[in-house]
Parts: sequence; C-alpha cells; structure tokens
Amino acid sequence: MPPGLTVQRVTRSRLSQVDFDDLGFGKYFSDHMFSMRYRDGQWGEPEVLPYGEVGIEPGAASLHYGQSVFEGLKAFMGADGRARVFRPDMNARRLENSCQRLCIPAIPRGVFEEGIRLLIELDHAWIPRKRGQALYVRPLIFGTEPHLEVRPSGSFRLLVMTSPARNYYGESGAAVSLKVEEGYTRAAPGGTGFAKTGGNYAASLLPGDEAKRQGFQQVLWTDGAEHRYVEEVGQMNIFFRLKDKVITPMLRGTILPGVTRDSVLTLLKDFGIPAEERRIPVDEIVAAIQNGTMVEAFGAGTAAVISPVGRIGYRGESLLVNGGQPGALAQRLWDEIIDIQNGTLPDRHGWNLLVDVPAQRQAIPAAG
Ligand SMILES: *Cc1c(COP(=O)(O)O)cnc(C)c1O
Repeated sequence: MPPGLTVQRVTRSRLSQVDFDDLGFGKYFSDHMFSMRYRDGQWGEPEVLPYGEVGIEPGAASLHYGQSVFEGLKAFMGADGRARVFRPDMNARRLENSCQRLCIPAIPRGVFEEGIRLLIELDHAWIPRKRGQALYVRPLIFGTEPHLEVRPSGSFRLLVMTSPARNYYGESGAAVSLKVEEGYTRAAPGGTGFAKTGGNYAASLLPGDEAKRQGFQQVLWTDGAEHRYVEEVGQMNIFFRLKDKVITPMLRGTILPGVTRDSVLTLLKDFGIPAEERRIPVDEIVAAIQNGTMVEAFGAGTAAVISPVGRIGYRGESLLVNGGQPGALAQRLWDEIIDIQNGTLPDRHGWNLLVDVPAQRQAIPAAG
C-alpha cells in the first residue's frame, strides 16, 4: 500500500451496463482509477478515485507538445478464483525507459504493481471470464504544468485505468493483412521508437488510414533510414516462421520491446524451435513467400496476444502467407500464452502476479 493512500469508492457500480458479449476494445472503463501526482520534485498523493474526468489546464504543455507515456498489460481471472496480472515487472521497466526518453520523472519502484493490485482488488468483478477476454490495464503519465515554452513539465499526473476487453482483433483465428510501408516512417534511429509515447501513434494514423483504403488492416513498418528492413506492426511485433526457424527483427531502439515478443521468444526456446533476432530485409520476406520457404507469419502484442498474418501487400502486389490462413505455430503460441495467463498451465517462468480477491464477490453477472 503506497504511503498516504486515500481511497474514494464509487457509490454505484457501472458494471451492470457492460455487455460482456460485445466488449470491444477500450470501450468500457471500470469503476475506479489509480492516481498519483508529481510536484515539487517528488511523486506523492496516491489515490484511488472513481473513473471520470480530470481537471487539466488548457495551457498544460503535454497537450501541446506530447510529453506523455503509457503502458498496456492484462489481468485475468483464473479458474482457481485468483486474479493474475501478466508480467507487470516488464511493463514497469519499460515505463521507466519511456519516462527517461521523454524527460518524465520515474515513478517509485513498486508503485506501478501496487496501483494495479489495488485496482484489481477493488474492480475484480470487471475481469471478464471468457477465453481471450481480459481486463486491460492502461497506465498513463502526462505533464500537467501550464507553460508554452518547449521544455519538460514541472508537474505530472499518473493515472491507471482498466477496461474489460475482447481480444484486439476479435476472435482468434482470423488472419490479418499488412501493407509494407515504404514511404512514411514510424521511427528513426535516435528517435522515440522504443518508447510507448503518444506521438509515435499520432504519426501512424495517416499511414494507417491509407493502408486501410488500400485494403489492408495494418501497416508493416520498415526502417526509417532506407525502408529496406522490416520493423514491426502498429501495436505488435512481427514474427516470420520459415521452414527451419522463426525470425523476428532485433531490438535496435526503433521498435517497441514487446512483453509478448519476449514471451514468444522464451516459449519458442521451450518448444525447441530455433529463433533468430536480426535485421530482416523486406526482399528476404518477399522471396520467402514466393518460393514457399515462409510457412507462416504472426504479430505479437498484449492486445491481440498472437495475431496470424494472412496477407502482405508489397508495391501493389498482394502476397498470401500460408494460403491466407492462420498457422499452427501462431495457434500453439496463442493457446500456450492464454493458458499461462488464465492459470490453466503451470506458470513455469514466474510471469504472473497473483492477486487475491474477496471470495464472496467473485461471481459476476452476464459474463457468460
Ligand atoms: C505495445 C506495442 C507493442 C507490443 O508490446 P507488448 O508489450 O507485447 O504489448 C509492439 N509495438 C508497438 C508499437 C506497441 O505500442
């Protein structure tokens, strides 16, 4: 429990308004949020508040200049009645790195997990129960100081909100389509590609829209210097399965170091499947699809977990991967990760943070 914590509970839960058969992604927000403020050189004033509007001055520079970072992780309700948060330690570390790049003071160690634990304890009834669904946890930090000079803010707000969510791309199974992007750049060496910061996503909206108009669901980014090497997808890291191994782009500061990416690499080792992290030329990918060496491709990220790729658009051509169908390895990884997250498989790598929730409030209505 962070020192000085105050808790203000909702007087009436909004849970009954949630349609657990049609959750969408980030459409519903649970009853409570966790808040901390940074001012006078330190983080303090931990609070649990009803989810709702927060006051922010129009002059707050983060609104103008984008000094903000966020995270994304998931919580699950196990068959044993214990809630599980998947690898929050990794998200905490990545948040620290994002903060450092954006000149945001790091939050004290432990507060990240404690804030999430408090929210899960209070709002555990919001954790969906269906396979593939989860309670998505979204920590956010932004500058609150009003000033129009371009310089770091002197005050910040941390807000952690949670949202019952379906699997990002709907039911597992459907393969997604990606357009190789050779014009726009998501991140360049020395930029903010490794940080989860709003500006990266703002810059990706127009390329994403254009890809959709051309019939593709997502952009497959290439490197900002030459547009010759594959980088990642909008909210996922990318993996290609060739006949004898799996390859994924190495971390060089321009792509997001995904927690799911790390989990996939660990599980591939468990499965005895060789994996390489390296630079991957787009040419190699196109050739591997054309000559049949590429068996399957999939994205990996918290929201979608594993998302099979069925089609890749390249210079006006549409290339089918695995006949446009989800591959076996993608399915195996999806099952393995979901089963570890739900507690139906042993947590052999110590990934889950267990949260005990009051037994008498475990049953939730309408979750199917
Ligand atoms: C969040 C994100 C990912 C995936 O990271 P996870 O920790 O696995 O959720 C990959 N790429 C981008 C750009 C992201 O924002």
